[in-house]
Amino acid sequence: MKIAVLPGDGIGPEIIAQAAKVLEIFRLEGLPLELEYAPIGGAGYDANGDPLPDATLKLAQESDAILLGAVGGYKYDALPRLLRPEQGLLRIRKGLNLFANLRPALLYPELVSASTLRPEIISGLDIIILRELTGDIYFGQPRGTRMLANGERQSFDTMLYSESEIRRVAHVGFSIAMQRADASGRGRLCSVDKANVLDTSMLWREVVIEVAKEYPAVDLSHMYVDNAAMQLVRAPKQFDVILTGNIFGDILSDEASMLTGSIGMLPSASLDENNKGLYEPCHGSAPDIAGQDIANPLATILSLAMMMRYTFARADIAQRIEASVQKALRRGLRTKDIAELGMKIVGTSAMGDAVAEAL
Ligand code: NAD
Repeated sequence: MKIAVLPGDGIGPEIIAQAAKVLEIFRLEGLPLELEYAPIGGAGYDANGDPLPDATLKLAQESDAILLGAVGGYKYDALPRLLRPEQGLLRIRKGLNLFANLRPALLYPELVSASTLRPEIISGLDIIILRELTGDIYFGQPRGTRMLANGERQSFDTMLYSESEIRRVAHVGFSIAMQRADASGRGRLCSVDKANVLDTSMLWREVVIEVAKEYPAVDLSHMYVDNAAMQLVRAPKQFDVILTGNIFGDILSDEASMLTGSIGMLPSASLDENNKGLYEPCHGSAPDIAGQDIANPLATILSLAMMMRYTFARADIAQRIEASVQKALRRGLRTKDIAELGMKIVGTSAMGDAVAEAL
């Protein structure tokens, strides 16, 4: 189990240190873990003048899985776009062909009142958003800005999807829906698009319907993205697995993140064709709270659980990590972002200790 550990910037090193405590317990139990650290983002720029140093990419390529903290910080704001920390992230995703981004939105009963939605709308929420990550309008060519004859500037991006890109992410979606099948053995997948207006979405829908034929135990539905955005806050529990493209998934997954109360609780996985994956919290480097021992490390620890489930096929270990997080919450321990009146507020490191102790 070779894991590349890329702490990154801001709160990255603090939250990664907590995940390392959890890994250390499994190492002591005899799990064949091999961790190697490397810089990325601003840390990569500081060390090698590149947000994704060659040695970091090489290490990531040679590892089974990558655990990443977060990248970005004020001190890099003035750098040209290609040297900015976020480029490290975009390039490693593209370089490793991590096309399937999984973001679960799972509400721990202990945190039901941390959400801005009413408890009856969200209690028991357990959905997963699968976002295609390497195609769509973020990568489509041509893109740019041109000068029109009348002297005004005009900018354009290209929304682009090929059948094979849609097909491979659809297969991941159906497989996850099968893994999550209910007691009756049926899974549910809702494909979100804008097929009433966009050509890319019409192709998306056609291909998803085709792939569905290989998964008769999964009930497939379709929803337009505008409606999905509304339904996610109206009645989020109607969903199980949501499959969508890069830009729609970007927006919907952030929306879904608030259902569960805090971005500090949300893990993510980005997988390639062979379930090799990059695991990271959904939040950024939170430079406003870096170095203060107040960041919530649970999203990072829960990302580790996803790593065990998806890359190493060790659902048993994943469940133990998740149960330990829940145990720490049940003890009433809260980092500041999820604290309510009367709760015991603990720091980043103490929360990591509590999870490790529970384990
Ligand atoms: P952010 O997610 O870093 O922070 C948003 C807000 O949430 C802040 O108030 C922050 O304090 C809080 N927050 C985030 N994570 C938290 C945690 N674990 N515990 C408690 N509070 C937490 O987003 P931002 O402020 O828009 O961006 C900051 C930097 O992070 C930027 O440079 C941005 O480009 C980068 N970024 C990186 C990633 C990534 O590495 N995957 C993702 C998003 C943003």
